[in-house]
Amino acid sequence: MKDLITVTDVVENAFCPKFTYYSLVLGLRQYEEKRGTVLAGRALHTRSEKDNRDYLPKIGRGKKLVAFQLYSMRLGLSGKIDEAYETASEIVLVERKYSDFTVITDTLKTQVGLLSILLEENRNKRVARAFVVFQKSQRVVKEIELTQGLKDFALQKLESVKQILASGISPDVKYSSKCLDCTYKKVCPTGSLYRVP
Ligand code: SF4
Repeated sequence: MKDLITVTDVVENAFCPKFTYYSLVLGLRQYEEKRGTVLAGRALHTRSEKDNRDYLPKIGRGKKLVAFQLYSMRLGLSGKIDEAYETASEIVLVERKYSDFTVITDTLKTQVGLLSILLEENRNKRVARAFVVFQKSQRVVKEIELTQGLKDFALQKLESVKQILASGISPDVKYSSKCLDCTYKKVCPTGSLYRVP
C-alpha cells in the first residue's frame, strides 16, 4: 500500500502543482507540525472521531463510519474518511474544518471528490452529497453536491500528481497569494519572488 498516492497528496497538488514536486519528487519535509491552526484542526478531528455521534441530526442518519481507511488499486489512491453516514441508498460525507474561512475551495472540492470516489468504489453505493462543518469562532455548515463534474475535476488533479511523478519535472506555476502561506516559499523560486517592501 506504500506506493499509493494519498488524497492529501492530491489536495496539495490542487493547492499548487509545484507543491507536489517538492513534496513527492524531491521529498522535502513540510514542517507544518509547528503551525497552531494545523494542530487545532487535528484536535478537532480527533474529538469528532470520539464523540459528536448525534451532533448533526439532520444529516446524521444511518450507520456512522469513522476514521475509515480506503484504497483503490485501480486509481493507485488511498484516503481516510473522517466521518460519513451510510443508509440503505446512499453515503453522506462529513468533513470538519477548523477555520472561519468558509469558501468551498478547489482543495476542498478535490478532497471530497476523491473521498466520494473511493467510498463508491469500496462500498458500492452512491455518494452524492458532502457536508462541510467549519468550526472555529463560529459554526457554519455547507452542503456540496458531488456531481460528476466535481469528481472529474478531482480526478484531473490526481492525474496531475501522476504526471509530475512520472516526469520528475517541476511544473510552471505563477506567483500567487497562496505562496504567502506555503511551507515551501523559502526554497521555491516562484514563492521567493515575493519580497516585503
Ligand atoms: S511557494 Fe508558491 S509556487 Fe512555490 S510551491 Fe508554494 S504555492 Fe507553489
